[in-house]
Amino acid sequence: MTHDRVWKFGLAGLFVAFLFWGGRPLYEHRHFDIPVVKGPGVTEVRRLSVYSPGLKGTMADTNVFVLQGRERGGKALLLGDTHANEPEGLLACLLVIENAVVEKGTLYVIPFFNNSASRNTRPGDGYPLYFEIPTDWGSARFRMGNRDASPLDQWPDPDVYIHYPEKQMLSFIDVRNVNRTWPGRPDGPLMERVTYGAMEIMRREHVDVAVDMHGAETMFPVTNCIVAPEKSVKIATLAALTVKAVQGFDNHVEPSPSGFRGLSHREIGDYSDTLPFLLEAPIPFLDQPTGPKTPRFLLDGKDPFLLSLAGKKKLFVPYDASGWSMEKRVGQHCSVTLEILKQFGKKNPDRPVVIRNMPRYAEITASGLGRYFADPSGAEEAKVVHN
Ligand SMILES: [Zn+2]
Repeated sequence: MTHDRVWKFGLAGLFVAFLFWGGRPLYEHRHFDIPVVKGPGVTEVRRLSVYSPGLKGTMADTNVFVLQGRERGGKALLLGDTHANEPEGLLACLLVIENAVVEKGTLYVIPFFNNSASRNTRPGDGYPLYFEIPTDWGSARFRMGNRDASPLDQWPDPDVYIHYPEKQMLSFIDVRNVNRTWPGRPDGPLMERVTYGAMEIMRREHVDVAVDMHGAETMFPVTNCIVAPEKSVKIATLAALTVKAVQGFDNHVEPSPSGFRGLSHREIGDYSDTLPFLLEAPIPFLDQPTGPKTPRFLLDGKDPFLLSLAGKKKLFVPYDASGWSMEKRVGQHCSVTLEILKQFGKKNPDRPVVIRNMPRYAEITASGLGRYFADPSGAEEAKVVHN
């Protein structure tokens, strides 16, 4: 072999070695399954592809946990990980699955709504691949995902995403964002098939209320709020006033803009009889002028740069050295969701959704999240669902 060839083969070998070295953690993250222990209320687990067959066999197919109550009543759909880099919605959904007992009505819970995004990451922003919640039995480990589905599952992107069916022109990246692809269609891009599946649950099962749980930057005006279209606004306002008066935290109401298409709080209301609500909890981790994006920052929400910006009144939420913890964010989502269901039941006494054994804001912020997660290694195999 000539000297030149030795160099060429050497460099090619080095390239392949780096490829494996860099790619392996990403491969493991994409294939890491989170065990969820079915709580006392779970009566069935279905796949979303039952409602949207175009998802079958793809990474976008996901579990739908059904919690059918002892008595008939109203129905609600809860969504977490619409944006899989906003894990407060995921954790609130898992708390429902592992703890809630439904007395009246039925809950459909999809904790990993954008399953593909929950197996994606954002290396350019230095995202951690995992975060852990301490428990009595060790740490519960979760994937930290991205806002958009992985290009491994849906590719290529168009130059412009033309929303279906309203034909509004959206950014190309929104074709992989399930909060722009509502109401979806059965044979559209993969993410439209995801939202179509959820629309089919709402239409076929006659779901009354849908709650889509998110996190939003502290520097973004639509944060710490319930986004509601006109048909949901009364219940949202009553829920916001009640949590403020009784549980002592703010969560104002923002109207859903009618001209901005593809969002859950807009299209669910326009394309079904369901009342949609989108919850935003402030997540400092998503803000841009912050320190490193560490798992600890994701959990405690403490950042010196945001603290200094708060002093200059640049944030849309009150912010001090205590940060904005995951407990606070998940607690808000649990309390607001329960209050929305309660207010819906008051207005519709023939369709109540009554839930027992769910922690609220005060308990979660006082005792942490860990105590609400069961140890999967100590549970019967049939009780554990891998997601
Ligand atoms: Zn979001």
